[in-house]
Amino acid sequence: MSKPSPSERAFVPFVSVDNMMQLVHSIGIEETLKGLATYLEEDFRRWECFDKTPRVASHTDVGVIELMPASDGDAYAFKYVNGHPKNTKEGLQTVTAFGLIADQYTGYPVLLTEMTLLTALRTAATSAMVAQYLAPKGAKTMAMIGNGAQSEFQAIAMKVLCGIDTLRLYDIDSSATEKVVRNLTDQGFVLTPCRSAEEAIEGAQIVTTCTADKQCATILTDNMVGSGIHINAIGGDCPGKTELHRDILLRSDVFVEYPPQTRIEGEIQQMPGDFAVTEIWEVIAGKKPGRTGDRQITLFDGVGFAIEDFSALRFIRDKVRETAFFQYLDMLADPDDPRDLFGMLQRAR
Ligand code: NAD
Repeated sequence: MSKPSPSERAFVPFVSVDNMMQLVHSIGIEETLKGLATYLEEDFRRWECFDKTPRVASHTDVGVIELMPASDGDAYAFKYVNGHPKNTKEGLQTVTAFGLIADQYTGYPVLLTEMTLLTALRTAATSAMVAQYLAPKGAKTMAMIGNGAQSEFQAIAMKVLCGIDTLRLYDIDSSATEKVVRNLTDQGFVLTPCRSAEEAIEGAQIVTTCTADKQCATILTDNMVGSGIHINAIGGDCPGKTELHRDILLRSDVFVEYPPQTRIEGEIQQMPGDFAVTEIWEVIAGKKPGRTGDRQITLFDGVGFAIEDFSALRFIRDKVRETAFFQYLDMLADPDDPRDLFGMLQRAR
């Protein structure tokens, strides 16, 4: 982004939901996912440069609201996101989000954006980027368990980045599965709706669990999981909200984003505090091995970490100014004399 003039600094580019949809279509959904994966990979490689903190969460019986900050010293970003599994029954989204990226030198925001769509895109790009390192080579079939808002994004990212062309779909609500079949027809997949999670994982080399339920659920039991597969478990992302039986964790090599957050929120909350995990950035940076054998079960216990939102915001910041798909928000006070804030208020009478 070019250096803003002093007056431009007071007006913050804002990407609405409508702007985001136009921006994504102008780039193309598949190209957007590839672009996000490139930015994510770059940031995972320089993981140690970041100021990191587990997200700040406010829990109630029905859901959670979280703030997710990260900084690389030049830019600071945060996302506001909720998770309310009961919302869909009330006609509302389980997950909504918006976020901001700022210039660390001035402290001024440089972009405010919707992040409900962007979260689905960044989560899918993260899952698929990680699967490039962990999934068995030549994987073609993915079981997609939980067919809600995130699911089509997950499927397309796995197709574009990992070569998945066959989807076995299961949701406790068959209308969700019907929606995915409708949305993904003519998108280059063989689509098989299934009547149970057991049926869905038959023959799958990648299993994605992306369900929403505010409880410790058992979407997969140990006897369902054969050797050699990659599990992309992204629905369990809160204390008291998991998807896998703990015995699966004992048989798997578990890869996580940021252990201090995942030990509280991820599948590994079921395990002792010293349960062995590998930080996925170390695999991406070439410091640790990922998949090492044909019979190994790899498990990405993905809860969503602030650096992923930082990467997504960085991507949108870089793309948006090349387009007209943003508006300016009069968000920052900009008195002619920076110390005369009161005078500016008085003159506005
Ligand atoms: P959603 O409410 O739109 O969809 C969830 C689906 O799961 C629904 O269709 C529901 O019927 C289904 N489901 C619930 N229990 C099930 C079960 N036992 N078996 C099969 N299906 C079941 O939610 P969403 O926006 O798609 O998000 C899904 C989950 O992913 C949420 O828990 C959300 O918090 C999480 N999430 C994680 C990340 C991350 O970075 N890890 C990012 C976004 C969302």
